[in-house]
Amino acid sequence: MFGAAEIGFMTHKISDNTKGRFYVDTNCINCSICCEIAPGIFATNHEQGYEYVLRQPDNKKELAWMAEAMDVCPARAIQDNG
Ligand code: SF4
Repeated sequence: MFGAAEIGFMTHKISDNTKGRFYVDTNCINCSICCEIAPGIFATNHEQGYEYVLRQPDNKKELAWMAEAMDVCPARAIQDNG
């Protein structure tokens, strides 16, 4: 499955994301599913109404959480720079 970035949709990386491999883009619809799947990895910008990557995953368990969050994100808004 390709993410929005790969197929050329007009999306932008949210500036709140921490530096690193994974990030949330402007397709986020603030459903908070990613925060439930990966606690401590994502955070919510309540004023603007979106989630962003607060901390990059740094172990196998957290990478699995990230993969699951990417898989279930209804907006395909979580991207992987590789
Ligand atoms: S699961 Fe996707 S759409 Fe929902 S809050 Fe997370 S990044 Fe945004």
